[in-house]
Amino acid sequence: MTGEMLSYDELAEKNKRYLWHPFTQMKEYIEDDPVIIASGNGRKLRDVQGNEYWDGVSSIWLNVHGHRVPELDQAIRDQLDQIAHSTLLGMANIPAILLAEKLIQLMPPGLAKVFYSDSGATAVEIAIKMAFQYWQHKGRPEKQRFITMKEAYHGDTIGAVSVGAIDIYHKAYSNLLFNSIKVPYPYIYRSPIEGNEQEQTKFFLTELEKTLVTHHHEVAALIIEPIVQGASGIIVMPEGYLRGVRELCSKYNVLMIADEVATGFGRTGRLFACNHEEVTPDILTAGKGLTGGYLPVAVTVTTNDIYEAFLGEYEELKTFFHGHSYTGNQLGCAVAIANIDLIEKKNLIHKVEQNSQYIANRLQEFRQLRHVGDIRQKGFMIGLELVVDRNTKEPYKWSDRIGVRVCRRAKELGMLIRPLGNVVVFMPPLASTKEELDSMLDILYQSIQEVTEK
Ligand code: PLP
Repeated sequence: MTGEMLSYDELAEKNKRYLWHPFTQMKEYIEDDPVIIASGNGRKLRDVQGNEYWDGVSSIWLNVHGHRVPELDQAIRDQLDQIAHSTLLGMANIPAILLAEKLIQLMPPGLAKVFYSDSGATAVEIAIKMAFQYWQHKGRPEKQRFITMKEAYHGDTIGAVSVGAIDIYHKAYSNLLFNSIKVPYPYIYRSPIEGNEQEQTKFFLTELEKTLVTHHHEVAALIIEPIVQGASGIIVMPEGYLRGVRELCSKYNVLMIADEVATGFGRTGRLFACNHEEVTPDILTAGKGLTGGYLPVAVTVTTNDIYEAFLGEYEELKTFFHGHSYTGNQLGCAVAIANIDLIEKKNLIHKVEQNSQYIANRLQEFRQLRHVGDIRQKGFMIGLELVVDRNTKEPYKWSDRIGVRVCRRAKELGMLIRPLGNVVVFMPPLASTKEELDSMLDILYQSIQEVTEK
């Protein structure tokens, strides 16, 4: 039975009866009329009732060129004519090899080996296990702990949650987790110190260094969302901070893991966020935009130094005992190659840079809105922090659901977005044109104005 043969009511009823949605309070959700997507085209999604919406958060931060992109669709069809999937356990396949080569050519210099998985969380899980085991192979088994940033988000599996630090998502699991060391992230809008960008950078690096001085002997790695901390509310770090983190990790012999799951593949206006400060981490994780938002493929990319630490005789058991059924999936790797080819062919990163300047100019208008406290942007990652009072920066209470209400209004006006608490997130597909961005920004403005000022 195909979905097209069913009415909206029938689909909605089955949705309520059989599905449990991610990050969703189902009690509330089932009382509402759900959006049920039937198709997409370009930067728009269309539901089964024929309503069209802008995809204002790129289907959760991953769409690059839009939906039903002929080149990407074709890449999957072509691959399907060969094979959909065979295992990467002990054997290789053509798209997995070619994608790995392409990635190494494009990643920050010094990264040399690609390990595949299927989501951002698994890529992080792999990074954690690699870093942990690396030190055992290096004869430093006491280096077992991880440093992470306050309010960090690295995915929802147990290891990734252990290096996460968003209480509302993570606290319930605290007894299940390993205990990571949390350092303050440079959240300038609510910084404990006054001072310009340079002074902020210095302050937060000094805080990190204090932690490293105390703990470096027991720390395997530091994990960070480079340039923009995403799920905490699109928080952009001050210039020089990422480079400083790299230097401190090297100084204290701690591996640096850059989690580019959200920032990778052009989202911040460079192919990778690490490129902004010419940083090469020891391990880089990426996912989301890797396949243009088409299929679940993620990567954990390491230096040769880490890779070589795992080499040994079979009996030595230095093998990295980790893998997933769909590791290196051909369809996913094929569409990822097509995605990267299209990014290059269309000179998309350059366009993102230009259009993010256009967005920045338009965002100036949002300063007129009385409850927009902070406007944060890096490339096509935009967060507008709503506050009760701009002077005192008093936050809205969780129970005010201010972000949720703004997003509801945006939906009525024809754009799908999702908030992060009091932060309204805008993350359009990277290939959005100026005209499309204008339409989306108009809806964003109107939604915030109507919900916060009326
Ligand atoms: N890491 C970062 C920085 C993320 O923003 C996310 C998701 O938003 C993840 C990891 C988890 O990725 P996934 O949802 O694909 O597991």
